Amino acid sequence: MINLYELNHEQLVDFLSSLGEKRFRAQQVWDWMYMRRVASIDDMVNLPKTLIIKLSENSSLGSLKLATGQHSRDGTEKRLYGLRDGQLIEAVLMPYQDGRQTACISTQAGCALGCVFCATGQMGFGRHLTSAEIFEQAMIFARELASQGERLSNVVLMGMGEPFHNYDASLEAIRQLMSRLGIGARHITVSTVGLVPQIRRFADEGLQAKLAVSLHKSDDAERSALMPINRRWNIASVIDACRYYTEKTGRRVTFEWAAIAGENDTPEEAQRLGRLLQGLLCHVNIIPLNPTGGYSAAPSDSARINQFIETLSSYSISSTVRVRRGIDIDAGCGQLKTRAISVDQIG
Ligand code: SAH
Ligand code: SF4
Repeated sequence: MINLYELNHEQLVDFLSSLGEKRFRAQQVWDWMYMRRVASIDDMVNLPKTLIIKLSENSSLGSLKLATGQHSRDGTEKRLYGLRDGQLIEAVLMPYQDGRQTACISTQAGCALGCVFCATGQMGFGRHLTSAEIFEQAMIFARELASQGERLSNVVLMGMGEPFHNYDASLEAIRQLMSRLGIGARHITVSTVGLVPQIRRFADEGLQAKLAVSLHKSDDAERSALMPINRRWNIASVIDACRYYTEKTGRRVTFEWAAIAGENDTPEEAQRLGRLLQGLLCHVNIIPLNPTGGYSAAPSDSARINQFIETLSSYSISSTVRVRRGIDIDAGCGQLKTRAISVDQIG
């Protein structure tokens, strides 16, 4: 069974010709998929019935099966999807007041990197997603929004998994978001734990996509305790790669900072971070920790965060707090899956 989202245009032509169909049929099917954005092969109503039957017997439009969905009071939509082999992944849609609609999508089932505060890290690695599986998470939101006269405007690769550990599929998915959904590279963000060679490779792609790097600590020993990957790529090497990225692309890099009470929100930490980032074209994005079952720490309070922001600004470093979305529906990375699994285990 072929997943039609896995095919590029040429491959679709070949596939249809293997079913005995002429080349122009590929363009028709392509338009139904990406212009009209139908949800099923049956909806491609100008195709001959015989072709619809052939297509349905030999292919599928997508492969994600909705396992559960949740709707937050703040408008955030969270989806848990089952993949063909039973792996579970999450995707989230966040509507903003200014009309932006941002999809947060996964690049792996689970994650191999084991950051201690992260629900996905706590569950371990399942497998890499294919580019079609990554793309389809955004495609589904784009389709649903289109049916309401709205548009998916932004995509962040910040769901489950490490995009740069699954580099080729993630980059292919970014290119598909651009060419098939018309989302500009500037509206696409990749978040990485800090894989140095891939940050450099990303800088060399010539794409305008945004880069976010999860830093969370400015001291090597302390960062290693939270994020084991720091033992392989330490802070200095990550900052060097980020400097290369800013020089190569002319774009600023965003550092993610999960604010953890007493752990990384002290004035001393802010000063050390200020010294570390001084002079680099960057922005610090502060996200109060989302508590997870496997890590007993609390989010920083707003007074601490405001002080942190002030200290950074004395080093001429801009920073903002990101509003936590979908708190009532566990919309943090990996949390819906964790809940589903624990409910399974209890039930
Ligand atoms: N693997 C990539 C992208 C997915 S995680 C990365 O680590 O960057 C997306 C972001 O959520 C990262 O910045 C990660 O550090 C952060 N994150 C993970 N668990 C969190 C939690 N419990 N609270 C707040 N942020 C968290
Ligand atoms: Fe993986 Fe990112 Fe979670 Fe770390 S924070 S375990 S890299 S998904």
